[in-house]
Amino acid sequence: MSGSCPHTSLPICHFLDYDARAMQHRIFTETHADTTSRARTGILHLPHGTVETPVFMPVGTNATVKAIEPRDLEGMGYDIILANTYHLYLRPGPDIIRQAGGLHGFSGWKGNFLTDSGGFQVFSLAQFRKILDEGVRFKSHIDGSSHLLTPEHVVDIQTAFNSDIQMALDICPPWGESEKRAYRATMLTFEWAKRARARWLEKREQGYLGNLFGIIQGNFYHELRKISVEQIVSLDLPGLAIGGLSIGEPAEAYKEFLAYTAAMLPAEKPRYVMGIGTPDYIIEAVRNGIDMFDCVYPTRTARNGLLFTSEGQIVIKKAQFRTDFRPIDAKCSCSVCSTYSRAYLHHLFRNNEILYAMLATRHNLHFMADFMRQVREAIRQDRFASFAKDWLSLYEGNASEETGEN
Ligand SMILES: [Zn+2]
Repeated sequence: MSGSCPHTSLPICHFLDYDARAMQHRIFTETHADTTSRARTGILHLPHGTVETPVFMPVGTNATVKAIEPRDLEGMGYDIILANTYHLYLRPGPDIIRQAGGLHGFSGWKGNFLTDSGGFQVFSLAQFRKILDEGVRFKSHIDGSSHLLTPEHVVDIQTAFNSDIQMALDICPPWGESEKRAYRATMLTFEWAKRARARWLEKREQGYLGNLFGIIQGNFYHELRKISVEQIVSLDLPGLAIGGLSIGEPAEAYKEFLAYTAAMLPAEKPRYVMGIGTPDYIIEAVRNGIDMFDCVYPTRTARNGLLFTSEGQIVIKKAQFRTDFRPIDAKCSCSVCSTYSRAYLHHLFRNNEILYAMLATRHNLHFMADFMRQVREAIRQDRFASFAKDWLSLYEGNASEETGEN
């Protein structure tokens, strides 16, 4: 594309006049760059405290990480969790959360909250939705009521939540989308991001301290990814997210488009890949300089019977654990591993005991927190490439065992 924009390769100049207020919103400090990969460590400066990166953020859909209390998350070293705007907007609604003192006052979580825009759930959960230039119209999956979410409205909702990081409303087309439709989604995502930014700056003027991140789309088309990066980066928002990955594409496409997109992002902004949480995808993201990720994976799989160990994952319902009186992982320092056996967890799982979900969640989240500490340590010691290789061979070597369920 031969551009007529002096700043980018776009046919039209979308480069906004830099807003002095936005320029002040520097929230990230890089502390070390690994010499063996593009991985880096850093610090996020947020309203509810600092966060060391790379960071994994547990997902608390309804302002609760299922089956665990905020103080336990805090004890494991978590300082940022995610909540879902779509769910909280529908129930209990932003007014109740605002009256409760935002998400922090409402839930008792003292660390940072990142909230998504709700767009992803509108597309995956709502019974009906229609994309308009104005926003997205949809019917609630709870009661069929009709709603219109605009980029401005989504900023208002997340401001009522007092989110530390809020996400701009975007359009995430599915894997396999045509280039024409993906192009339209990319362009509209940019228009919406500009509108979200304007509203967010108004909220900042009014005393709101939270940050707005823009989301890069472009589906699986190199040119569209490049355009989307140039557009969203031009808005000079506090952080940047790569959206539209891990949406059902083959692992090779994930790796290719992650590396391609991440390489174009500026160093001074935190980089977030949405919706990834398996150790192999996290390693790939960190290798490409990504600082933040979130996923329901460690908590949802815990409840479904998959437990992480330093020698790979185990499926606790397997008959072999009925008489296995060892801890889940002898190397794990969590209270579950120092108190309970695999045999007991197997028994609790088989009987659908509530305590099973609590213990399994606690162990898996402790394991993830520990894994991320090891990731940061490896980066600081300039050995991330060998750390990743060792970890992946362990993880992949064990994957075959997972499928051999009985
Ligand atoms: Zn444990």
